[in-house]
Amino acid sequence: MAEQEDLEFGKADFVLLDNITTEDFLANMKLRFEKGRIYTYIGEVVVSVNPYKQLNIYGPQVVESYKGRELYERPPHLYAIADAAYKAMKRRSKDTCIVISGESGAGKTEASKLIMQYIAAITNPSQRQEVERVKNILLKSNCVLEAFGNAKTNRNDNSSRFGKYMDINFDFKGDPVGGHINNYLLEKSRVIFQQPGERNFHSFYQMLQGGQDQLLKSMRLQRDISRYEYLRQGSTGKDPGINDSGEFKNVAEAMKVIGFQADEVQTVYRILACILHLGDIKFGFEEEAVVITDDRIVAVLGELLSTSAEAVEKALLYRTVSTGRDIIDKGHSAQEAGYGRDALAKAIYERLFCWIVSKINSVIEVKDYDPRVHGKNTVIGVLDIYGFEIFDNNSFEQFCINYCNEKLQQLFIELVLKQEQEEYRNEGITWHDIDYFNNKVICDLVEQQHKGIISILDEACMNVGRVTDTMFLDTMDTKLGRHDHYTSRKFAAKDKTMDFGRHFRIRHYAGDVTYSVDGFIDKNKDTLFQDFKRLMYNSTNHVLKEMWPEGKLSITEVTKRPLTAATLFKNSMIALVEKLASKEPYYVRCVKPNEIKSPVQFNQERCLHQVGYLGLLENVRVRRAGFANRQLYTRFVQRYKMTCAFTWPNHMLPSDRDAAEKIVEQHGLQKDVAYGRTKIFIRTPRSLFMLEEARTAM
Ligand code: ATP
Ligand code: MG
Repeated sequence: MAEQEDLEFGKADFVLLDNITTEDFLANMKLRFEKGRIYTYIGEVVVSVNPYKQLNIYGPQVVESYKGRELYERPPHLYAIADAAYKAMKRRSKDTCIVISGESGAGKTEASKLIMQYIAAITNPSQRQEVERVKNILLKSNCVLEAFGNAKTNRNDNSSRFGKYMDINFDFKGDPVGGHINNYLLEKSRVIFQQPGERNFHSFYQMLQGGQDQLLKSMRLQRDISRYEYLRQGSTGKDPGINDSGEFKNVAEAMKVIGFQADEVQTVYRILACILHLGDIKFGFEEEAVVITDDRIVAVLGELLSTSAEAVEKALLYRTVSTGRDIIDKGHSAQEAGYGRDALAKAIYERLFCWIVSKINSVIEVKDYDPRVHGKNTVIGVLDIYGFEIFDNNSFEQFCINYCNEKLQQLFIELVLKQEQEEYRNEGITWHDIDYFNNKVICDLVEQQHKGIISILDEACMNVGRVTDTMFLDTMDTKLGRHDHYTSRKFAAKDKTMDFGRHFRIRHYAGDVTYSVDGFIDKNKDTLFQDFKRLMYNSTNHVLKEMWPEGKLSITEVTKRPLTAATLFKNSMIALVEKLASKEPYYVRCVKPNEIKSPVQFNQERCLHQVGYLGLLENVRVRRAGFANRQLYTRFVQRYKMTCAFTWPNHMLPSDRDAAEKIVEQHGLQKDVAYGRTKIFIRTPRSLFMLEEARTAM
């Protein structure tokens, strides 16, 4: 039967391929994609190809068929990996994590939701109320986070523009009792600017399309999307494929279920409205001074922010500076005022997003959990974070995102190799290391103290006076010019395709990326005039005030220089990697089959590229050199004892190890196994499938 399956649907595990070549790998992937078998294993890693159509492979019945099963018992599925993580957590009290990677549009977010739905479906059989509440909030949070953190891009109609790591906490019964979400680097530049064909975050369109007349009127908004400067740059407002008004209702409902108070939801809408109005503010010149051309918008902003129009106007046109003895109001140039307006819009949105996340966290946080009473509290973490990005024009954002991917790849290498090798050593099994490219050198290039790109950038940002992006590039060229993974313009003088005067190139593990240095300094400093913080803090709206605690500081209070954007990101990545490294990892590697969202096209070249940088072939090789499966002798015997006369119904042999040997001999698998101290190691999945078949045939 397995042979038949193989012929028709391809190999369920890439490890089973006769030859580990890119051609065979891709052919298998293509065949399975075409047959709707979008999941394939590499050992315990799931490779998932986006089907771009609804498949009939989810839902309660399928969940039931995977529940409590072993990985090889059923066709490869996300449910199986979710179950494996869940079992490890429940049976062995291990904290586990599921790391989902792949490029934009590959299906990470969908995968993370399917995994969460699976976990929700198999837990809490006794329907405990508190557990149901937590599960409900965890599921509903997705819809809210997507509304505020996702946007239509040219690659994906529902692209996550932030990274998300969610911990689900379980009690000793294995039921979810709480959770925590960490969010990473929201792409806030989208609030003020979108590429052609792209949109701003969904939340704006949802409100304009779905909000009641009364709501919009009270905030002086028009339904017409194209009226708003911050929404019209991508020239894509309404999208026939996106149901903005329907989603508005879902999100409002979800916020309610999560526990947002009515006034909090109102404030959320007001903030969105504020941003739209801010975008329409223009600056002009009158009597040698910069002025706001339309007073009415300022008045509306005053209302929406629960402060006075004068205060808004002043914050937009002046900044208060302390000269040591005096405090003076210094007028902005029109350019500074424009910069300030945009910075404010971005900052308000970012604060709003972080506030929403912390609000969700506050209602699902595990409180009063006493391990002495309740047993060990274990965790499953799910990571859905932006994949590697190579665009035509790559900037600071791509630099951060790609650095994040380097860190995760590093972790993958460490864990896959480390875990395998430690296990073989502990069990006394002979093992030869497999060689493959270790990207630590690239992580160092970016993050090393004093020497790395982030340090050089921070240093440039610290200099008083006008440091330009070009000066930053010069310093990098001097300090990193000899690095194997950095190309400076001196070395690139012969490359006529790129103006290296404003670019640098990093040889990432996933490929070369050329970054434009423009905007690095500004984006890294991420300056928001203190006046704006005070403006928000002085609002009589308590939610707004809560979002801007540092507005409390007066001008004379010396403020510490805030950490730069890159350093904050670096720190959050280091913390994330530490968190993941302390858990037993499961991997989902998502592949995007084509650029046109087609359910039938398998773009060979694009897939080849992804297989390459995800290191899937190396992954298969490591797996092949090692053993596909290992089990404690007791478990192995329990599971397969019915397939062998010596062990059924119970064996009389001196040990389970001896019993395991008998079972192996019965099936003629001697060459494919090794005996460790406590576990039996099975080299190829084929043997495992064979044993499983023998078992079901009984
Ligand atoms: P980004 O990095 O841009 O956030 P992503 O990897 O999270 O991308 P998703 O948003 O999960 O990508 O998937 C993109 C689209 O592909 C989905 O909106 C959906 O239309 C389709 N898709 C993904 N996975 C599946 C699936 N399992 N079944 C059906 N359609 C899917
Ligand atoms: Mg996503």
